[in-house]
Amino acid sequence: MNTPWVQSCSTKWGDFSNSLGQSPCSVALALGQMCDTSWTLYPLPPSAKRSGHYTGPPEEEATSCRCSTVLYSLLSACGLCQNYAELISWSHYSTNCSTVFLSRFPERIPSKYSVPGWAYLDVTGRDKFDPSKAGAFKGSESLGPGIQPSSTRTPPPSTAVPRKSGLSPGAIIGIIAAFVLAALVAGLRIRWVRRRARTRPSTDNNHSHSRKQDSLHLNCLPGHLEPTCVVCKAQFTYHNNATCGMECTEILWENGGNPGMCDYCHRKPKRPGYGRCGPFCEEKAYVACLLCKARPKHGVSDLCGDACTRIAMKSAPLLLEAPQDHETYAMVEANFQQAWHSVPGHGPCPPIRSVYSIIEDEDLRQPYLAYKERVGNEQFRYHGTVRRSQCTLGVSTTALCGSAQCPLCNILESSFKVSLAKTTGAFGPGVYTSSASNKAYTYIKDGNGALILAKVVLGNIKLVSDWEEVKFCPPGYNSVVFDRMSGKLNETIVYTDDAIRPAFLIFF
Ligand SMILES: [Zn+2]
Ligand SMILES: [Zn+2]
Ligand SMILES: [Zn+2]
Ligand SMILES: [Zn+2]
Repeated sequence: MNTPWVQSCSTKWGDFSNSLGQSPCSVALALGQMCDTSWTLYPLPPSAKRSGHYTGPPEEEATSCRCSTVLYSLLSACGLCQNYAELISWSHYSTNCSTVFLSRFPERIPSKYSVPGWAYLDVTGRDKFDPSKAGAFKGSESLGPGIQPSSTRTPPPSTAVPRKSGLSPGAIIGIIAAFVLAALVAGLRIRWVRRRARTRPSTDNNHSHSRKQDSLHLNCLPGHLEPTCVVCKAQFTYHNNATCGMECTEILWENGGNPGMCDYCHRKPKRPGYGRCGPFCEEKAYVACLLCKARPKHGVSDLCGDACTRIAMKSAPLLLEAPQDHETYAMVEANFQQAWHSVPGHGPCPPIRSVYSIIEDEDLRQPYLAYKERVGNEQFRYHGTVRRSQCTLGVSTTALCGSAQCPLCNILESSFKVSLAKTTGAFGPGVYTSSASNKAYTYIKDGNGALILAKVVLGNIKLVSDWEEVKFCPPGYNSVVFDRMSGKLNETIVYTDDAIRPAFLIFF
């Protein structure tokens, strides 16, 4: 039981972790599973605004165990750990509760866990978790079995409080409205990102339709997912994965899972006309691992972690498509468009058809990394190249054609080779790229080719101002750059294989 997405929790009010270093998220998950073993906790969706919070139990899950202020306080702190400053009030959290436990957790404390003293503080006075009071609280913890007590704490006496009726209908409507609004904002943000990414005017202004759709799928929020593997349906999931382990992840990658189910969580039906079950999964899918598509990718990597990296490495070099509603697609497309300069004869910036992230072989990756470490100054550059006429890479397959006569597949298979460079190049034998996407695009003949967005280590640049000014890399430099037409027809040349690797592939 672990929440790897919140390992530590430093906030402006202090660190909310317990003396064992367990974050409030880990402790909340452990306590919640004492109430219901199938309950799990997911990170809050990555949103720029960081608005939102964990919700209280839905009606069918509102056991008195879930209706404890201790769990409420831990979940509130868990949100703060993720920089979500918004706090849900206790009365909103406990809307569906018929019995609540104040300053008490009715189940035993799970073994090897301890509950911080601040989690027992009263929240009914302000009707809200008080982070400054909690951060300053020095009272001792409640320890589960398996932990040696240094001092024991007696939780304050408390009572189970039966409730006759919940909130007034007006208050409930207010809560639902707030929810729908939050979901709409999330949805709009996604639509805005897509719209911006495609630079195409959207015709989707039918908000009333979206509002209805969103409100129907609000239950796809953290805390309601089953922990059995979505593939074998037999084993428990590994941490917060959708699957139990590598084998099932590989199957999920190959077959995409049940086609009727959300292609992120795989546990709720798709909303009609969409790939995902609702706004929560849509936000998650924007930054999903490109292999399993069911977990957040890890930072700048397009994969989520060890298991997916190992699966990808087995098949390297591997092309993983970035869907149009993915951050990687948006990033590559924005880069491509910004790098396109209007030059007579080059035409307007063409629309992109598909984007792939290139997972390279470990044997190719290491020497590049070593060179980068030594020389520095890594930048993105474009290289346009063609496919052999019979090659259908990016059209009907992601498998390389294997032909020695296919320039594109050769670069993907073994990266760029200075030894294959023409000696007649204007700046001598090297690998030629450009910071101008329009320049690189001219090398894709009749569209039967692709643009490679390569990572290039430029190190110390020899800037030249005319053709054939140098015919090799001058001593003391690592690359040659000719900023022809103020960069609109930039030429960038490196002279060693280790200075460049293909990173993304763009088809038109
Ligand atoms: Zn499984
Ligand atoms: Zn979903
Ligand atoms: Zn993954
Ligand atoms: Zn090919």
